[in-house]
Amino acid sequence: MAALFERKGFMTDREFTNIKLDERFRYDGKDLGAVCAENRTIFKAWSPAAERIVLRLYREDRGAHCMEREMMRGERGVWELAFERSLHGMYYDYLVRIDGADTVTADPYARACGCNGARSMVVDLRLTDPEGFDKDRAPDAQEERIIYELHIKDFSYDKGSRVPEAYRGKYMAFTVKGEEEPYPVCMEYLRRLGVTHVHLLPFFDYGSVDESGDEEQYNWGYDPVNFNVPEGSYATDVKDGTVRIRECKEMIRSLHQNGLRVIMDVVYNHTYKEDSWLQRMMPGYYYRYEEDGSLSDGSACGNDIAAGRAMVDNYIADSVMYWAKEYHIDGFRFDLMGLLTVELMNRIRSELDGEFGKGEKFLYGEPWRADASPMERGTRAALKENTRCLDDGIGIFSDDTRDVIKGHVFEEKEPGFVNGGSDLEHLVLHAVTGWRDGGADFCPLSCGQIINYVSAHDNFTLWDKLVLSMHRENPDFTRHYEDVLAANRLAAFIYFTCQGNLFMQAGEEFGRTKLGEENSYCSRPEINMLRWDQTVEFGDLVEYYRGLIHLRKKLPGLCDKSPGAEMRITAKSIHRDGVVSFRVNNRALENGNWEELLIIYNASKEDYAVPVPEGSWEILADGREADCRRRIEEGVREVPVEGRSGMLLAR
Ligand code: CA
Repeated sequence: MAALFERKGFMTDREFTNIKLDERFRYDGKDLGAVCAENRTIFKAWSPAAERIVLRLYREDRGAHCMEREMMRGERGVWELAFERSLHGMYYDYLVRIDGADTVTADPYARACGCNGARSMVVDLRLTDPEGFDKDRAPDAQEERIIYELHIKDFSYDKGSRVPEAYRGKYMAFTVKGEEEPYPVCMEYLRRLGVTHVHLLPFFDYGSVDESGDEEQYNWGYDPVNFNVPEGSYATDVKDGTVRIRECKEMIRSLHQNGLRVIMDVVYNHTYKEDSWLQRMMPGYYYRYEEDGSLSDGSACGNDIAAGRAMVDNYIADSVMYWAKEYHIDGFRFDLMGLLTVELMNRIRSELDGEFGKGEKFLYGEPWRADASPMERGTRAALKENTRCLDDGIGIFSDDTRDVIKGHVFEEKEPGFVNGGSDLEHLVLHAVTGWRDGGADFCPLSCGQIINYVSAHDNFTLWDKLVLSMHRENPDFTRHYEDVLAANRLAAFIYFTCQGNLFMQAGEEFGRTKLGEENSYCSRPEINMLRWDQTVEFGDLVEYYRGLIHLRKKLPGLCDKSPGAEMRITAKSIHRDGVVSFRVNNRALENGNWEELLIIYNASKEDYAVPVPEGSWEILADGREADCRRRIEEGVREVPVEGRSGMLLAR
């Protein structure tokens, strides 16, 4: 391609080429790929570099092609071919000639594909809708966003899920009404827990699991192959490309019917391999390169997608809109958002708002990257330091909150506030406002930009981290240490009483352990899966979380996401090492239960009596029980708070 344009001044050849490409060939149509309806199928592919593109059609996923047709080159590098009939169910790929050499590629814009995504499929999407899908609606928004991070296979791989074997580890497990007896599992359990959003680890088609292989395979799925097609290994049948689409929709509909909104974990920062459909279709355009011509690797996965270029941004934004419209996805979590740009993220925010209403779809991401990456001129990385450039409706994971509560994420034995760390009192009190009143090296526009959490799929589970940091000599992950349980409850109590959005890893509420494995992305499913009998073993802890979840929704002073919400927090006090308290103005425009809250964190090992201001107070949560109501006798001026516990009082 470089030969198409001449080198210009201070820019590298590549930069200059890409800018000129964007000027001449930017295509804003939403119809790339194969669009198929009852009487018509139109194929469109974008490749200004191609000299010739041949469409090859197949009756089956495997086997020789039955037809090939030359595509016509049109405006802006778009190649087109139309058929006056539905080709629904036909498979296809392209033979692309660039610089005289022919390459076979699947369609990067494909909406359906065969086994392992190697061949694309034509799909009339209306034929993939489960019955009544057009009437599927997300449940109404609740007072707070409480996000439950879940991997599709983890949810039901355990026999204890009591999901029929054919559905175990699959999309369809979400359609099984979880049994209540002898204890609630799966959907019934989720509904009871009270979380509002289920955030699913990547489920667009990824490459690390052989879809024709056995069920013992496992991967988190951060290795995208087909960005606009659901992963096949979660479907009950990969031979028919429509099954994964229909079953994925069934899952989403069922989550909606159970009162849960659905968030999709999206990985637009890199592809499984550099040799992707994007690369084959338009070599060099979709990736970032270092000056020496090698691929940049800010993702630590071998390549970085070049967000900031016109057709890359179109690709990503259109893909997000597609999932929102076609699959009714309610929110998106951006993996390594720091590799994408502020401009792209704000554009996605505004396109979603325009289509679905302001804030209706929830957006957040990781405001970091694994390493530096050469960005396009004039773009800003969506990193934590640029939080204030992001729209107020884009959230970031707060590593500051996470690390101050439980200790540094990469230093396994380093403690945080709840497990023996010292000199963290000031920081904890800043975390309470979502870092709106200082304490961090950035300040969000509002606490609505903050995602509070203490564990996610990456790194140790909360339980394992606490065991490692509190029982350093002989950590036994299967033992029910009392002090670890107390620290776990306090960690939960703290982030559930911080302003901002709440996020938890599935199973955090029942002491989920990976037996000390820090990075289980391709470990056996048995290491990763949710063990449903643990919900009974750790029944008290589950009840505690459940109480916190239900209590939180009743506390407008903490749920407030407005830019001034931090003004509700007053009387921050450090009583002694490990003991802090603050008050919260809890008045609401309507339905206010309590005018004021008094919240105490006692991370020390000893009990501590905290002074209580005058008034008629009641305890809504302490270190063992959450969402209770215990009145304090009139005239009592001090309340004892147990070592390693929190207390929430209200009046
Ligand atoms: Ca796959």
